[in-house]
Amino acid sequence: MDDTPSKKPLYYHKNYGNYGFGSFHPFDPERFSRFMEMIRGDEVTDSAVDIREAPAVDDDILTYVHSEGYLEHVKRCEMEGRRLSPDTPVRPGISEAARRIVGGSLEAAKSVERERITMNLGGLHHAGRDYGEGFCVFNDVAVAAEYLKRGGKKVCILDTDAHQGNGTMDIFWTSPKVLFISIHQHPATLYPGRGYAHEIGECDGLGYTVNIPLPRDANIADYHYAFREIILPVIVQFEPDVLIRNGGSDPHHSDSLTDLALDMRGLEYLGRTSREAAEMNGAGYIDLMVSGYGLRVLEGWISIMKGVLNLPIKTPTDQRIGEPGQEPNYSLRAEVEKLKGYLEPYWVL
Ligand SMILES: [Zn+2]
Repeated sequence: MDDTPSKKPLYYHKNYGNYGFGSFHPFDPERFSRFMEMIRGDEVTDSAVDIREAPAVDDDILTYVHSEGYLEHVKRCEMEGRRLSPDTPVRPGISEAARRIVGGSLEAAKSVERERITMNLGGLHHAGRDYGEGFCVFNDVAVAAEYLKRGGKKVCILDTDAHQGNGTMDIFWTSPKVLFISIHQHPATLYPGRGYAHEIGECDGLGYTVNIPLPRDANIADYHYAFREIILPVIVQFEPDVLIRNGGSDPHHSDSLTDLALDMRGLEYLGRTSREAAEMNGAGYIDLMVSGYGLRVLEGWISIMKGVLNLPIKTPTDQRIGEPGQEPNYSLRAEVEKLKGYLEPYWVL
């Protein structure tokens, strides 16, 4: 008999700490071990999380979503000390760490049917079939979704990272089996410059890509509006078997790379609302929360995790304006109306 029935799995391996890009790079690899210490040091999270070891995946798994040519390219770049893109150098040991992170997300997918809620410190959503960029070598989000898809499951990926998930979007661009929804800072103002409202997929995948660009300084009222008007109705109509949410703390107002305005309460809202969306539809739920830049990244992950696991949060000290249900930013209202027009042939909104 399982002696920890209420604990939910979080996949991790100490080699995740090799997933870094050198000093002065905003992606600090210390984040992994420090987060584990935070979880173990907090009675509430420690008693709610079952930490499980992530295995490294081999090429057979990576070719679910990446080309063999790309895998060779990564190997060559690692040997020769080259970069996948200007912001993504391939340092020695990073591809093994990336294979562990993919392994963690794959295990999260394998165990979600039994556990209902699973987590991994993943979410490398900027890697596409033939490219790596944006601090992402291999796309663990897409591997988890593709694994579930091959098992006959309908999968919704809800990407709440401040940066749009271009790699994941490209991989499932023509697939009606994986619904990709991304809510992100407007592409005209932030990397990767993709994810305009008119980008809705192609061929059989038309309507199964949904992009919600947010104005700068979007707060919890704006997110709530987007969930109510677009995200939740589309998920209900799609009827997913599994919902994968990815995205860390970079929508927080303190983030050093982005311009959004969620507070800790807002990050908790993202975790909680996404998990409730899965539960309402009888779907399993996977959470991947690795991104974020600046001093409050780990506090942000804890807020998301507490929302996911329905744990009590301390009263945040960083509260910004906005309440769920208040009027959204006028430019978001216009953007959502435009998006509803693009999606009208596919969803009742
Ligand atoms: Zn990001």
